[in-house]
Amino acid sequence: MSHYIVLVKQVPDVTQITDNAFDLETGTLIRSRLASVINELDSQALAFANQMRRDSGDKNGKIIALTMGPPMAEEVLRYGLSRCADTVVLLTDRTLAGADTVATANPLAFAVRKIVREILKEDGDYYVVCGMQSVDGDTAQVPPQIAEELSLPCIAYVTRAEFKSKRFEFTRIISGGSQVVAARKLPAVITVAKYEYPVFATFAATRQANRMEIIRWGSDDIKATHIGVTGSKTSVIRVFPPGKSTRKCEQVGDAKALAELLADQFKSGDAKAGEDADAQTSRYILPGRRASLFDRSFEGTKKEKEAFEILAGKLRELGITEIGEIDDANKEKILAAAGEHFHKKALEDMINGLQLTEPSYKGEVWVVAEHSDGAVHPATFELIGKARALADSLETKVGVVVAGYEAEPMAKELIAAGADNIYIIDDKLLSVFDPAAHRKAIADAISTYWPQIVLYAATPQGRMLAPMVSYRVGCGLTADCTGLDIKDSSRKGLIGILLQTRPALGGNVMATICTKNSEAQMATARPGVMKRLPPDESRTGKVIKHKVELSEDDVSLKIIKTELGTGEVNFGADVVVSGGKGMQNRDSYERLVGSLCDGLRKKLGTEVERGASRAAVEQGFIERVHQVGQTGTSIGPKIYIALGISGAIQHMIGIANTETIVAINSDPNAPIFKQCDYYIVGNVEDTVPQLVQALEVE
Ligand SMILES: Cc1cc2nc3c(=O)[nH]c(=O)nc-3n(C[C@H](O)[C@H](O)[C@H](O)COP(=O)(O)OP(=O)(O)OC[C@H]3O[C@@H](n4cnc5c(N)ncnc54)[C@H](O)[C@@H]3O)c2cc1C
Repeated sequence: MSHYIVLVKQVPDVTQITDNAFDLETGTLIRSRLASVINELDSQALAFANQMRRDSGDKNGKIIALTMGPPMAEEVLRYGLSRCADTVVLLTDRTLAGADTVATANPLAFAVRKIVREILKEDGDYYVVCGMQSVDGDTAQVPPQIAEELSLPCIAYVTRAEFKSKRFEFTRIISGGSQVVAARKLPAVITVAKYEYPVFATFAATRQANRMEIIRWGSDDIKATHIGVTGSKTSVIRVFPPGKSTRKCEQVGDAKALAELLADQFKSGDAKAGEDADAQTSRYILPGRRASLFDRSFEGTKKEKEAFEILAGKLRELGITEIGEIDDANKEKILAAAGEHFHKKALEDMINGLQLTEPSYKGEVWVVAEHSDGAVHPATFELIGKARALADSLETKVGVVVAGYEAEPMAKELIAAGADNIYIIDDKLLSVFDPAAHRKAIADAISTYWPQIVLYAATPQGRMLAPMVSYRVGCGLTADCTGLDIKDSSRKGLIGILLQTRPALGGNVMATICTKNSEAQMATARPGVMKRLPPDESRTGKVIKHKVELSEDDVSLKIIKTELGTGEVNFGADVVVSGGKGMQNRDSYERLVGSLCDGLRKKLGTEVERGASRAAVEQGFIERVHQVGQTGTSIGPKIYIALGISGAIQHMIGIANTETIVAINSDPNAPIFKQCDYYIVGNVEDTVPQLVQALEVE
């Protein structure tokens, strides 16, 4: 008999976010300005657990909903009680506030332990079921970190569970396809990526839920080891609005006008690609290499940089060239010149900071390689390009760690891409990706060599592996970065640290984060954002073999079936026409995408390929090899036409490098319209034939 501990979170309703919803000075969201709702994927996780209980045929299995949050978070527990939860636990304490993912996962894991002890009476047959990620954090890190704290198998990105031969088999999303797996032992953690069959509450159930007891625990009850701000391993340095989209976002009146536009754009070739979100500004230089000791032009925030400029200017004016010459009288003069910019304590910190020239972290800049069947994932090459720039600034080497079986032949290509040292962990048990076995291998290599920075691709695999590794080695981790920069915070005694910038709150704000209380700085970076370097076959590097003792017990999952895209596709074509779920069925996809491809091929005299969203592939409209996006292929054609595609982030990051994006969608509020160059609000059934006809006439 299995039990289900479902983690639910109360989140701000980011779909209703307004410009004044957050305080840009402090970076905090003003929660009172937004309604609070249950995180959508967590409500799906509740429904998923309910379905699992039903499918297993065991009515005695308990569903226990657990949340950590302020007292008002009890609303999501009442939501759970009114749907399917039997018991609910609220973990609430002021000391838990301000937590990052480590300081969230840790107390939740300790609360799970207490639930197992006191409510499940040590019955070890249970699943921890979570939504894949929350809309406010968007990190997907907490569930794998809970699994790591509890030493449990973790199955992430699950879309389906099937009860077969007295155990559950889970279908999950992986790069390039899907996989059916089962946990080799229970308990296990699963994260739900999509489950579209909600449980509805009846009036009677809602009334009953309002009367039921909520178990309340505080920090002292669970005795967690990492809590609140002090237990966190990352801190937010600044929050700022996202830059304006570099896309034109122009609505086009009709199909005829669009046909003209497409022909013009293609011929003139003046289309502009979306701006490189991680465009390197000026290259960081270590303080010891700068012309002047007082040059602090690489501070992490504008305010800090300005303060040091004032300080340097005044020191110049006073003719001071040595820090030892700054006596009390000079300090008074500096403070007078600084006015409101900084006060005495800050000045003392800045003077101390001026004495620092060595970087705060030591070691190489590492990339964790992702690969399958001997082929390196394109995102790994992008990360090596970024690691090269970071390592050059820090005057250190780029290391790439490869865990796999017979992986050494990949070393040559990795070195040509910019790596210096390739750390190979070779073991038959690593021949396919298993989260626990790979976590053990990578964590072992990191804690042997201690690089100062470790980068992972923000693919489903990387977003699962990185939280487990970072938690195991006790380091902070920032998810899904779109910008990575080396900067100083001299005032805080931090030199040459990694500033990690990422979208948060559903892309409504950008946050810059740095690592604290950690031996290495770790980040996952969004595929398609960093730039790959042109391969240089003349580069040389070293292969270092690292041995890790692994046994069958280290493997957490049984892989039952893997489905990957097969067949040929030419995503190097100038034009790609993709169909989404809005195509309704395979026939419409064939007819509409096919006719538009033919029309464009004739009109533009160029190669045109078919693409698809993941939803279209899952509906069987076309083979998986045509999938564009995070778990499909990232492409960069001259023109990309999206038909009946909503514009989910996982799709859009696959076309970030496209010159011109065109969308046709019947929903006037489709998110893709804010991320494309030209669009028509219209039904594909009407608009596509009109466009094909217009291309013929044009
Ligand atoms: C870990 C993970 C990885 C993922 N990887 C990918 C990936 O690589 N690629 C990817 O695409 N997705 C990926 N997804 C899925 C992604 O989140 C979205 O679910 C998916 O992109 C949605 O596809 P869609 O836009 O076709 O469908 P929907 O979101 O359902 O949108 C359909 C659109 O069609 C429009 N429409 C409906 N009827 C018509 C009509 N008659 N005429 C015109 N418009 C119409 C609707 O207005 C709607 O905007 C991933 C998800 C996860 C969790």
